[in-house]
Amino acid sequence: TYAVTAATGQLGRLVVDALLERGVTPSDVVAVVRTPAKADDLAARGVVVRAGDYSDRASLDGALAGVDRLLLVSGSEVGQRVAQHANVVEAAQAAGVGRLVYTSLLRADTSTSPLAPEHRATEQAIADSGLPHVLLRNGWYYENYTASLGQYLATGEVLGATHDGRIGGASRADFAAAAAAALLADDEGEGVHELAGETFTLTDLAATITEVTGTTVVSRDVTGEEYRRTLEGHGLDAGTAGFVAALDASIAAGDLHTDRTDLAALLGRPASTLREAVDAAHRAA
Ligand code: NDP
Repeated sequence: TYAVTAATGQLGRLVVDALLERGVTPSDVVAVVRTPAKADDLAARGVVVRAGDYSDRASLDGALAGVDRLLLVSGSEVGQRVAQHANVVEAAQAAGVGRLVYTSLLRADTSTSPLAPEHRATEQAIADSGLPHVLLRNGWYYENYTASLGQYLATGEVLGATHDGRIGGASRADFAAAAAAALLADDEGEGVHELAGETFTLTDLAATITEVTGTTVVSRDVTGEEYRRTLEGHGLDAGTAGFVAALDASIAAGDLHTDRTDLAALLGRPASTLREAVDAAHRAA
């Protein structure tokens, strides 16, 4: 059996879809979810739904019983994730899971991103567990940007402080398909995958939006300090504004740039492009 945590999240759902598309029997898929009420549709498809909260070790022991291969999707409660993910790793050890796959962050070992420490600590806990494992160091979802397409079109600009640092990205669906492939792979599958499809700058993003929509959008690059102040002016609290600005500083430092082609290798095909993602968001608007 294959278990997917955070299966009610956007990525987790796509991983379940990918497993079923690849022919896994629904009853061999365990959706580990914090909120079972959000998983009725998964249960209706024949997927086994089990309650599992990263903060509740006992729930995880129950959720992982009998599981052969586990995808741990990193949680969304930033600041609590080291302890939460350690709970999952310990439960996986107790259950005798044969392969643990984890969604980490691109170049987590050296990244200066404020997100990196939690991923590094989780990678370390996984290594220390001795469980056979695969690290999927995901780049940025294209959707992190395409979700703001309406705002870019309304303002005519993509505001940031990346200083045209390159961003290795891919669609959520491609990261999900890669995760399914890592779960299903016949070989030992162990290793560290740095995952990105296209790498682009915010200048490239603005140009792509302009081409696809016919509305001129430019990239406006500002200092980290100005970006932080602007975000606060838009109503973000100081902590969040500083965090978002620090993400761009990390991009400026090159932390999200990779030339590696691990994603296409896992997918067995080229990853989808930024243009396709912008086009999809434009059509959906
Ligand atoms: P979502 O926000 O859509 O989903 C997050 C999921 O995590 C939800 O299903 C949520 O459960 C679950 N979760 C949160 N806390 C717990 C907990 N304590 N116990 C169990 N489950 C929990 O994020 P995505 O699916 O889009 O992304 C998946 C992960 O990837 C994120 O959680 C984050 O770590 C990371 N991420 C990566 C990005 C990138 O660009 N690479 C961008 C954004 C996030 P529930 O449904 O019950 O709320």
